[in-house]
Amino acid sequence: MIIIKFGGTSVQDEAAIGRVISIVKGRLREKPLVVVSALARVTRLLCTLAEEAEAQREDNVKDLLKQLRERHFNLAKNLLAARPDLLEECLAKVEERIADLETFVGGVCLIGELSSRSEARIISTGELLSSTIISYAFNAADISCHWIDARRMITTDDNYLNARPDMEVTEANIKRIVGLEYKGADLVLTQGFVAATPKGATSVLGFEGSDYSAAIFGMALGAERVEIWTDVDGIRSADPRVVHNTRKIDVISYEEAAEMAAMGARVLHPLTIEPARKKNIPIRVLNSTNQACEGTLVVRGDQAPDGPKSVAVKDEILFIKVTSPKLDGVTRMFGKVFGSLYPRRIPVVLAKATESEVYLVVPEERDTLQEALEEIGKWAEVTVYRDKALISVVGRNIVGFEGLGDKVISVSGKVYLANVSANMMSENFVIDSDRVQITLESLHDYIFNG
Ligand code: ASP
Ligand code: MG
Repeated sequence: MIIIKFGGTSVQDEAAIGRVISIVKGRLREKPLVVVSALARVTRLLCTLAEEAEAQREDNVKDLLKQLRERHFNLAKNLLAARPDLLEECLAKVEERIADLETFVGGVCLIGELSSRSEARIISTGELLSSTIISYAFNAADISCHWIDARRMITTDDNYLNARPDMEVTEANIKRIVGLEYKGADLVLTQGFVAATPKGATSVLGFEGSDYSAAIFGMALGAERVEIWTDVDGIRSADPRVVHNTRKIDVISYEEAAEMAAMGARVLHPLTIEPARKKNIPIRVLNSTNQACEGTLVVRGDQAPDGPKSVAVKDEILFIKVTSPKLDGVTRMFGKVFGSLYPRRIPVVLAKATESEVYLVVPEERDTLQEALEEIGKWAEVTVYRDKALISVVGRNIVGFEGLGDKVISVSGKVYLANVSANMMSENFVIDSDRVQITLESLHDYIFNG
């Protein structure tokens, strides 16, 4: 079996879904499980819908529901014009889901309260709608396709908006249900992102979570490969919207791809790598608008070349220095600082300590961060540096590549923290935000264009 996952832009309209059908058609012999995201921008619309309902702005709620209905109705009508029988069935299903959503959102609007459980239920609608329409489009193209509700398969905890699967239960579900549904079908199709708790409440795997879903399905089914279809030619040496002359990475290891994601590259959902690595399933990142391109292959470390792969940036971070008046030692320093951060679930991107100092990189503006820093401030001096960014060069054995530090210092003017990650997969530098563009550009040039 193979997993073929299509992101939002790869299913955004009639033309995109036409490409989806032709891509899948060429792979039917490999028994695909197709995983789809919501149509481009729909998840965002649903988030706004949830917010507007909570704020009890009825007119906006109505307007957003109207947009949602029109977008999906029009798409179904365009795709299924030649098959009025299927169109009628499909529209009935779409309408049922949207009517359900309407009732539910009406409730939220009435009480003016939105729990994360309610929000998950609202934003899961995007994938449920897109997958319904796409499964009809396959059937209209004479590819018999069974639609599966991912909530029957991916079982998670009750952290509804960032839910984590119980892998054992999930794996057993997937094997059983996909096996059953494949009987008499050319193809089975399900949603990314969407899951459910053991009690059956809808949960979601976090934004961009469809990649993660695809990897989970791949692991459970022992798939030959997982294909992730997007609208760029694979994973690149830097974000092409920020840096000129980026290159496609042909082959990269699981570890490097995970490090890139952790260091801010918008490639794959950071958790995607783990299930694939566990069973050594190759991931191929491909472009649905340029199918001739072979994309990027993500594989085990011993099958990927050494050396730098990409430069990444995490902006909107704070650099924090904690200085103790005493020589507390590394253990106590870390212990005390994390004693304040951990209970508040502050996600630390990077931490370093000396006998009397701790340096931290954390995402900007978390409500609870201020509180944690005040607590730390009772025994130490806390300095917060704003308008900083963390840039990273990622690649196995990156330390063997000379001159990176010198280059960053000479271009950025000032490096607040330099670090080699413990797994030797990246070198990281905290610099001023207003120097990011030029530093990235010249670092990328230095590494990749020699
Ligand atoms: N539709 C969800 C999102 O936009 C999940 C995904 O596309 O990966 O975050
Ligand atoms: Mg995506």
